[in-house]
Amino acid sequence: MNKQHLHTVARVTAGSIAEELEIEAGDTLMEINGTKIEDIFDYQYLTQDEYIEVLIRKPSGEEWLLEIDKEYDEDLGITFENGLMDEYRSCHNKCIFCFIDQMPKGMRDTLYFKDDDSRLSFLQGNYVTLTNMSDDDVDRIIRYHLSPINVSFQTTNPELRCKMLNNRFAGQALEKAWRLAAAGIVMNGQIVLCKGVNDGAELERSIEDLSHYLPNLESVSVVPVGLSKYREGLFPLEPFTKEDAKQVLSTVHKWQDRVFSEYGLHFIHASDEWYILAGEKLPEEERYDGYLQLENGVGMLRLLMNEFQEALDAFGHTEGVIIPPRELSIATGKLACRFIKEMAEQVTALFPQITVHVYAIRNDFFGEMITVSGLLTGQDLSAQLMGQRLGEKLLLPQNVLKSGEPVFLDDMTLAELEKALQVRIDIVKSSGQDLLDAILL
Ligand code: SF4
Repeated sequence: MNKQHLHTVARVTAGSIAEELEIEAGDTLMEINGTKIEDIFDYQYLTQDEYIEVLIRKPSGEEWLLEIDKEYDEDLGITFENGLMDEYRSCHNKCIFCFIDQMPKGMRDTLYFKDDDSRLSFLQGNYVTLTNMSDDDVDRIIRYHLSPINVSFQTTNPELRCKMLNNRFAGQALEKAWRLAAAGIVMNGQIVLCKGVNDGAELERSIEDLSHYLPNLESVSVVPVGLSKYREGLFPLEPFTKEDAKQVLSTVHKWQDRVFSEYGLHFIHASDEWYILAGEKLPEEERYDGYLQLENGVGMLRLLMNEFQEALDAFGHTEGVIIPPRELSIATGKLACRFIKEMAEQVTALFPQITVHVYAIRNDFFGEMITVSGLLTGQDLSAQLMGQRLGEKLLLPQNVLKSGEPVFLDDMTLAELEKALQVRIDIVKSSGQDLLDAILL
């Protein structure tokens, strides 16, 4: 076993089985039921039982064989130093639409890491192309019945997929998806749409082919390619127009209506950007089948607005709360700005003593075509909010920060931005209730 495969415990959840058995950070997991653990696939499978035997080595070298009775799928409560319990697999593709290739130089190294690891699909919901998934992985997913797996399809035309991914094995990699679907593995899919490449008739073909894998393939999102200003030397890709967006939506809606009557799922979903670009109303909640693809920006705005409305209605019925006069500001990407403004206006209509300034931040760092708040940088926020009326506090959505850390994508810290703008900044979590609370309380 090399060092990469030493499964060292990083943390133990309070109140968990692991804590009860005095497993601690620094311990090493050696075996479960006499079997060595290759990676997280093995771990998840082997821990799903009502009785397991876990061999732990303490830092002193002492070994403990623990006999554990538990609920079938009860987690042991162990977080390992390496979440995958193995090396991270980088991707073998050179996709014509890859956003990592469109990033400026000089950003932190981890942002340039191209992962395409199916284990991360199960752990974090990453979308994978299946091009570097081994047959052994496919077998283990089927044997262990791991679900769901998220697949980046782009197209079901094998030759076109090879071209789009710049990988001659990308076409045949689709066979792995069909094997997984046939074996009952639940999947979600994604199509990154590139104008003149996989749209139009190719998109129709992809949706039709993918619809054969319903209901195991339970959703497929169509998202427009993100184009930064750093595309020199890369495959020429054009932005979509309003007319293109209308065409995409008409295709998506046609297929939604076609499959819904048979499967009770809308299956194919257009991300929020398409509705905004086309100038069309966002679909009602029922169309999103329980929001299966929020991480791809599918239904994010509809969910936020509905949650906000519900929170506001509930607040309207609360008695005895006095809302003092206040002035505050919200900054967001251009994409969501109109919707955030509408929500702020709902609040100020009810509570005229509150003033909310909503600012749409142009993405100068990556280029104006990038409009999502998740790719805003500290320097753009600083430059465009400097001298603006910000009131007693500035609200920012949590996705502007590196996950779990008060640092922006360009490494500016939250404290540096607060200092530059001379304002308190509150980070708002993702729900409508969080946004309302941040404005009112
Ligand atoms: S799979 Fe394609 S888009 Fe994803 S990281 Fe690799 S090259 Fe980039």
